[in-house]
Amino acid sequence: MKEELALKHNIKERKIDEITKYYQPEKFLGYCKACQYYDKIWTCPPYDFNTSEVLENYQYIYVIGSKLYIKDLDEGFDELLNHDDLDYVSNQIYRAARGIVDEQLVEIEESSNNLRVLLAGRCLVCTPCTREEKKSCRYPEKMHFSLESIGFDVSSICEDILCDKILWAKDILPEYFLLVSAVLSHEKLDKEDLYKNLIK
Ligand code: SF4
Repeated sequence: MKEELALKHNIKERKIDEITKYYQPEKFLGYCKACQYYDKIWTCPPYDFNTSEVLENYQYIYVIGSKLYIKDLDEGFDELLNHDDLDYVSNQIYRAARGIVDEQLVEIEESSNNLRVLLAGRCLVCTPCTREEKKSCRYPEKMHFSLESIGFDVSSICEDILCDKILWAKDILPEYFLLVSAVLSHEKLDKEDLYKNLIK
């Protein structure tokens, strides 16, 4: 799989107070019970802590939409796109995009003591996660929660803040994949710097 993908990033800054209306853990963590990863990955519910602790003391959130249009995939993806298992194809494209965005965000997080990143979905560090064997997380320093895994309404954040929409593969691949990540910060960041660090 080719390493470079034509990802387009959209970054929006909000004060933490401005996004609390999207934090609805009772409702959205409830939906997680129907997911195949419920109680299987340490970054997915149920939890033995209150997820609001993740936001504690942060003043700003930078919501990041990273978009990949299927039409922009290069010839390195031709074989994959011709595969007849749509779930497999979607998962491979999703993982390729996550690999790039996660790596950049973790690097951004490691560059400062003031930041915490929320990645665009479940932890992908190990397969399977040690939670399946009821063992502690193998790499607690690498694991990251996502907005949805701590109880945010990501679809509404997408529509209201990013002015965009998450699409899903049904009978065919969607027009694009949209990953929604976030950076929590104690202080206001320079959005341009954040953008440059995302694409370097
Ligand atoms: S780092 Fe590994 S063990 Fe820890 S949550 Fe992620 S997948 Fe599970």
